[in-house]
Amino acid sequence: MTSLSYLTLDKDVRQLRATDFDDFGRQISGGVQSAADKGYDEARKVWNATVDRRPAMIARCLTDADVQAAVRFAAAHHILLSVRGGGHHIAGNAVAEGGLMIDLSGMKAITIDAARRRARVGGGALLVDVDRAAHAHGLATPLGINSTTGVAGLTLGGGFGWLTRQHGLAIDNLLGATVVTADGVVRSLSATSQPDLFWALRGGGGNFGVVTSFEFRLHPVGPEVYAGLVVYPFAQARSVLRAWRDFCATASDALSVWSVMRQAPPLPFLPEAVHGSMVVILPLLYSGSVADGERAAAPVATFGDPIAVALGPTPYAGFQTAFDPLLTPGAHNYWKSNNFSSLGDAALDVFIDAAARLPGPQCEIFIAQLGGAMARVDVQATAFAARDARFIMNVHGRWSDARDDDGVRTWARQVFEQAAPHATGSGYVNFLTEDEAERVAASYGVNHARLQSIKQRFDPANLFRMNLNIEPRVRP
Ligand SMILES: Cc1cc2nc3c(=O)[nH]c(=O)nc-3n(C[C@H](O)[C@H](O)[C@H](O)COP(=O)(O)OP(=O)(O)OC[C@H]3O[C@@H](n4cnc5c(N)ncnc54)[C@H](O)[C@@H]3O)c2cc1C
Repeated sequence: MTSLSYLTLDKDVRQLRATDFDDFGRQISGGVQSAADKGYDEARKVWNATVDRRPAMIARCLTDADVQAAVRFAAAHHILLSVRGGGHHIAGNAVAEGGLMIDLSGMKAITIDAARRRARVGGGALLVDVDRAAHAHGLATPLGINSTTGVAGLTLGGGFGWLTRQHGLAIDNLLGATVVTADGVVRSLSATSQPDLFWALRGGGGNFGVVTSFEFRLHPVGPEVYAGLVVYPFAQARSVLRAWRDFCATASDALSVWSVMRQAPPLPFLPEAVHGSMVVILPLLYSGSVADGERAAAPVATFGDPIAVALGPTPYAGFQTAFDPLLTPGAHNYWKSNNFSSLGDAALDVFIDAAARLPGPQCEIFIAQLGGAMARVDVQATAFAARDARFIMNVHGRWSDARDDDGVRTWARQVFEQAAPHATGSGYVNFLTEDEAERVAASYGVNHARLQSIKQRFDPANLFRMNLNIEPRVRP
């Protein structure tokens, strides 16, 4: 059966008998909600306010058995199924319109084994949960830069942040996972237990099952690290970004310096006169000792004439929340993203020209510096194929008034198109929007065909398709 024919089989949930609902409700320990229930509207909300979908049922799963029951119910009744981890994905795939949403927000348990440097993390945990629990032992694993993001979605798509250049992607530190596959079976995966499926999980998004727990390798980090921001006026963007790009080429793996062009937020260390003016922000973190970090990061304040240098020792878990105020849920968001193996002057000029046309005060263009340990992993070692992405650019279109919808989307698409000739052609599935399904195959590159075969084996009916979908290989 192809995924296309399966799509046409989705049953209108209203066709189900009341007894089916009741039986199902009794199987889920956290209960099953529908539109009439208290808390339903809160439970269906995701980070991107543009997404406003109404599932027929929300299964509040608390155990592996709950997830099994929900997967079997959706498969048996041909109901459109979605899985909500942290609800952060820009495309809103966590929520199935008219279908069944598995809500994992009740599965956040974290266990730290400090002696073995391992973390066991529930499938609904947020970054803040892991960062804080590990930080208490002076340990951390590479995750993202916004603490309210879900560990599950971030990890399943690859997962990069401040520690990636030193310790790799989140998936490079994933040692095992427990997953409920489309047949409703609970499987323990690792490099030696069902290695094909474990390979696919590491980058393949939510395509292969519902992960109920992850096991990560931890590294000594901090507890204090050298981190912060250097802020330059936008008028110096050209020389500052060229100096930043050149500096990145030889920077130590322990140091990550990103760049952001946006209007200056009202940060306490910025003069009031600067608030709202265009700036180039270089946020950075050094994951080794504070003294080494101070030395390694010093040149970043010499790329021009900075407005502010706010660098110093800071608790690692604290810095992991530093950007939360700029990334709060509830705004409308539309992103476009490109991967780059290098940044020539012409590419930088595209970003600078686009930033000069920023369509709103919450919009920004950010470029993450990658490479280092992430780039040293073989492209076929995990499903994540963009190992050559030394920089990932993300055009953050963000707005509050629905009337700005078209203007921001058009601007974001234009930046993407203009930057594309300088980019690698692959994408990062965690940043792709709902209208970018055609970029999935290129994003998986040499790994796409193997992913399709594994999908065919474990999810031939494409039950898990509310994601950047890898379709099962259609047999001739
Ligand atoms: C503000 C913000 C900052 C971000 N920063 C970073 C960053 O620094 N680095 C980075 O790499 N990415 C970053 N991202 C992107 C992020 O990795 C993706 O949005 C990711 O999908 C979020 O995971 P989630 O669990 O919160 O999302 P959800 O929307 O809940 O899920 C995303 C996808 O994963 C599936 N899924 C979720 N949980 C499970 C599970 N347990 N089992 C199986 N499938 C599941 C869902 O069905 C969906 O298809 C950021 C996103 C936002 C909004």
